[in-house]
Amino acid sequence: MTKCLPGRAAQVLTSRRAAPVLIVVGFYALATLVARRRGYNMGGNVVVRCREGHLFTTIWVPGASVKSLKLGWARLQRCPIGRHWSLVTPVRDSKLTDEELRNAHEHHDLRIP
Ligand SMILES: [Zn+2]
Repeated sequence: MTKCLPGRAAQVLTSRRAAPVLIVVGFYALATLVARRRGYNMGGNVVVRCREGHLFTTIWVPGASVKSLKLGWARLQRCPIGRHWSLVTPVRDSKLTDEELRNAHEHHDLRIP
């Protein structure tokens, strides 16, 4: 004898499992929008500055990262210019000179989030 869940109960179980995932995804989507409004180019290639002042471009997708350790607004990751590990923070494009921006775009770390 097999017992099947009625369709409605199966639906509730599925949506209960999906809810926390949707909340997390929604949170990061919102955080990305807020950061973009504040002038940060989040969710793609972002200019970041390491603790030693090196500027480079990295892929910064809030909530998705395999190459760095996230620490709130900063991340611990490898600096491709100084070839060292450092805390890096996003820099608003508007805060950089054209030359700084061009240099930053010429130096890109690994092309994975
Ligand atoms: Zn550096």
